[in-house]
Amino acid sequence: MNIILLGPPGAGKGTQARFLCDERDMIQLSTGDMLREAKDSGTEMGKIVADVMARGELVTDEIVIGLIREKLKGDKKGGFIFDGFPRTLAQADALGDLLAEEGETLDSVIEMQVDDNALVARITARSTCGDCGEVYNDHTKPIPADGKCSNCGGTEFKRRADDNEESLKQRLMEYYKKTSPLIGYYYAKGQLSSVDGLGEMAAVKADIAKVLDT
Ligand code: AMP
Repeated sequence: MNIILLGPPGAGKGTQARFLCDERDMIQLSTGDMLREAKDSGTEMGKIVADVMARGELVTDEIVIGLIREKLKGDKKGGFIFDGFPRTLAQADALGDLLAEEGETLDSVIEMQVDDNALVARITARSTCGDCGEVYNDHTKPIPADGKCSNCGGTEFKRRADDNEESLKQRLMEYYKKTSPLIGYYYAKGQLSSVDGLGEMAAVKADIAKVLDT
């Protein structure tokens, strides 16, 4: 089963993708994570995308489509979860072609709906465990008092460089201008389902399971 989690930054796509990986043996393909890795390891491509990402703009379709193309050739396990990809109509068309080349299909597109005020509050309070990626929130799920990650015991926590109000505004603008048309695109293809992304993590997870299991 191959699915897309679609939604603005902070909608909870990464958190839900991690649940799906653990429980359904799926593979999370987050282009944001791939680009951050390239940036941190200082590759040529990483250098090209660093400024664009810091500003909250989208990197070129060509770069992200290339990243996804490579991953689709690898182990498919229980299927792919596309997280943060596609973000433009050109990427959506390319994904359809790439899946067809691999003899795969897109089974479901799940839109995670959240209100913009909640997004800003979530993102500016967000941090993650540097070892396992567990997501924390200063207000709703603070880092444990002993300073150890509740999932893996790690003690390093990171805040994303682009999780500040300025670049968040730009990321939201990019989402509404370039990514939100994908909601109509997948609706017209009969592949779209929507869940309320604002509820408790467990409730969102149950809603996603309902979509995938029916
Ligand atoms: P994310 O972790 O998904 O929020 O992505 C972080 C940043 O990486 C975005 O703000 C973009 O600059 C870049 N990025 C990630 N995925 C894509 C994509 N599919 N298309 C273009 N840019 C992307």
